Amino acid sequence: MVALVRNKELDGIRSTIRQVDDRFNRNYNYPYVLLNDEDFTSEFKEKVRAITTAPVYFGKLPNEHWGLSPHVTEEKVKEALERNRDRYIYGGSYSYRLMCRYQSGFIHKHPLLKDLDYYWRIEPDVKYFCDLPYDPFRYMRDKGLVYGYTISPMEKPETVESLWDTTRAWMMENQELLPEESFIQWVVNEKAKYTMCHFWSNFEIVDLSFYRSEAYESFFQYLDRAGGFFYERWGDAPVHSIAAAILLRKDQIHWFEDVGYHHPGYTHCPRKPEMSARCICSGSSNYMYRSMCKRRFDKVGDIPKSQALILAQ
Ligand code: GDP
Ligand code: MN
Repeated sequence: MVALVRNKELDGIRSTIRQVDDRFNRNYNYPYVLLNDEDFTSEFKEKVRAITTAPVYFGKLPNEHWGLSPHVTEEKVKEALERNRDRYIYGGSYSYRLMCRYQSGFIHKHPLLKDLDYYWRIEPDVKYFCDLPYDPFRYMRDKGLVYGYTISPMEKPETVESLWDTTRAWMMENQELLPEESFIQWVVNEKAKYTMCHFWSNFEIVDLSFYRSEAYESFFQYLDRAGGFFYERWGDAPVHSIAAAILLRKDQIHWFEDVGYHHPGYTHCPRKPEMSARCICSGSSNYMYRSMCKRRFDKVGDIPKSQALILAQ
C-alpha cells in the first residue's frame, strides 16, 4: 500500500489508512509505504503508526528523482507555468508537475519498493466504501493481471496537447519494444487521435514488473526528454494508462468493479447486488456505469502490432 504524501496531509492519510484497514487490510497486514520529498515529522510518523497495526515504512525521495528534468530549460518552464496558470487546474503549479513526473517515472524505483511485486496506490482523503472479501494481489497474480483500476474518466485535453504525438513517435522509433498484440484502441480513436481515456491512478493496483520493464522505462525516458511534464502538465494517470494500452493486452487489465471508491471529482459505487451488499455508498453515485471510457473499454479489443503501427504513423 503505497502513497506519496505531505506532512500537512496527516489527517487525510490517517483517514485513508483507517478505511483501507477496515475494508480489507486488517485481514492481511500488508505494509504501508509512505513517501515524501521532505522529512516526515515525528508527529506525522507517530500519528500514522497509531492508526494501524500493519507495518509502516516512511521514506524520503532521492533528490535526483524530484526536480527539474535535465531535458528542459528553466526559462521555458517559467513561461509555460505563466501561460497555463489560468487554463486548467494546477496549470501554474511547479510542485504538481514534479509530483506527476515522480509518479510516472520514479516511484517504482524507490528503495522501499525494491522487494514489492505489486503495489496498491493510496492517497489522502479518499473513500473506500466496500468490504473487499478477497486479496486483490493474489487475484491479480492468479489471473496474470498487470494493471487494475476502479475509475476511468477523460483527461482535460489542454494538459496533454502533445502527449499522443510523442507516444506515436516513441512507438515508431521503438518498434521492437511493442508487444504482438495490444489494447491500444482504448486510447486512440478512429481519427488516430487520443481518446483522453485514462485510468485514474490515485487508485491503481499494478504488477511492478510492468513499470520496471525496458519498454516502460524507454517510454518514460522519451516522454521526459520531450518536456511535456513541465511545458504542458502531463499527469501520471494518462502516462500510466497510455503505457498500459500500448504495451498490454486487454486480458491483463482489470476493472475492480467491487472497489467502491471516491476521490474528489468522481465516485464509483458498485450496483451489482452481490457487491453493493458490502458497500455503504448509494447507487446514485455510480459514475462508472455512464463513463464513456468504460463503454469504450468494453467495446474495443486487442489489435496486432502491425495495425497498432498504422495507428501510430
Ligand atoms: P490530485 O489528486 O491530482 O488533485 O493531486 P493531489 O494533490 O491529490 O496529489 C496526488 C498525490 O501526490 C497525493 O497523494 C499527494 O499527497 C501527493 N503530493 C502532491 N504534491 C506533493 C508534494 O509536493 N510533495 C509530496 N510529498 N506529495 C505530494
Ligand atoms: Mn488526489
